[in-house]
Amino acid sequence: MLALAREAAELAVARIESLPDESAWDGEFKEGLERLLLESPPEEGRPAEEVLRQAVADILPMTTRLDHPRCFGFVPSEPTWPGVVADFLASAWNVNACTWLVASGPSQVELVVLDWFRRWLGYPDSSGGLLTSGGSAACVDAFVAAREVAGKPARPSVYMSDQSHSAQARAAVIVGVGREAIREVPTDGAFRLDMGALARAVAEDRAAGFTPLAICANAGTSSTGAIDPLHAMADFCQAEGIWLHVDAAYGGFAAITEKGSELLSGIERADSVGLDPHKWLFQPYEVGCLLVKDVRTLERVFGFSTTVLQDTVWGANHPNLDDRGLQLSRSFRALKIWMSIQTFGMSAFRRAVSKGMELAKRAELYIRESRTLELQAPASLGMVCMRVNPEGAGLEEETLEDVNREVLARLFWDDRAFVSSTSLHGTFSLRFCIINHSTGWDDVRETLEAMERFGKDALA
Ligand SMILES: *Cc1c(COP(=O)(O)O)cnc(C)c1O
Repeated sequence: MLALAREAAELAVARIESLPDESAWDGEFKEGLERLLLESPPEEGRPAEEVLRQAVADILPMTTRLDHPRCFGFVPSEPTWPGVVADFLASAWNVNACTWLVASGPSQVELVVLDWFRRWLGYPDSSGGLLTSGGSAACVDAFVAAREVAGKPARPSVYMSDQSHSAQARAAVIVGVGREAIREVPTDGAFRLDMGALARAVAEDRAAGFTPLAICANAGTSSTGAIDPLHAMADFCQAEGIWLHVDAAYGGFAAITEKGSELLSGIERADSVGLDPHKWLFQPYEVGCLLVKDVRTLERVFGFSTTVLQDTVWGANHPNLDDRGLQLSRSFRALKIWMSIQTFGMSAFRRAVSKGMELAKRAELYIRESRTLELQAPASLGMVCMRVNPEGAGLEEETLEDVNREVLARLFWDDRAFVSSTSLHGTFSLRFCIINHSTGWDDVRETLEAMERFGKDALA
């Protein structure tokens, strides 16, 4: 085990060192991978080092390198090394963070980490929650709680903007909201939910016999980083008696910076907030988080006393975290957060999050000055959207889409960077999400320059 772990550690470090010189993406068609990997499980084993080397050579490289300094696609994420090692330790110690009896130390560390998150958001003492597999799972657990509070209505409906992540709609379906009762509320020119349209949708649904279960606000959409009008939505939810869930899976950890905390003002008024430490808190997958304003709401829905677990009840102030969500057996996700924050300190995390926002702002300024690039959505929480649209060329929308698809393809095949696209109210857009802590301005600038070059080629 020691020899294998040493070799694994050396290979992992070598990979990090060579990453910037490699392409941010690699992948292979299914036939190719089947040729390499499809077989019956071997009856007899072979040397562990050989298996390790095959995994490192054939399997692990076939991925988008989400931690590459030039990975700007989707939501990239670059874990800190103490977090990576923490996952190894959590497996090696075989922790099951289910109950206090089974894992008191890990449970306490999870409570500590949740308390940090609570303070960053400005949430009250009464709040609490749990770490989850991700933002999607957090959303499901939040809607289960919301359904309970709403009295398990027969005809539930939920509300979210047309920019909301599909995780919210999927969670609604899981808790029994029909697809036809998921209301997509339109957004304004800044991709923020339209309050008038929300109020109309709720009133119409109530008149038609629906019971609103929850309203979802975005604290950083995954297309543009837009933040919904959190205070206005909280006022509305308060007046209407509807659960407010804030999906802060993308943007929530901006709250650790002064600027981000101003931008996210109002998040502390939500009934529940979903976060994703495996995004902007630089943790390896998986770790998400759900915080609920009154933690008892979760325990009322998810708490069960079973005979086989009767020994695990320690009484007041010794929560069994399995009583707050879906999972009984749970990995020790809090350790990676705790170890990386203890190692680097909050000042380093604050600098890293601020850097993402500053680089996006700098990219916005570059795009504004470029004669080839057009800004489509200004920098918001580390994201910026643009397309190639040369000044004075007067290109038709259809041509522009073709040109920009070609630019995206050229970046994909001919450049180290990885960028992904989105559709902004129907317009094709190239989207930069700049939150890796090792990304520098040169990484962003050279990728923007490549886009300008590929754009000129496409038009030549
Ligand atoms: C990533 C993301 C989700 C989904 O979270 P997972 O951790 O992938 O389950 C939901 N909402 C937003 C805004 C996201 O960025």
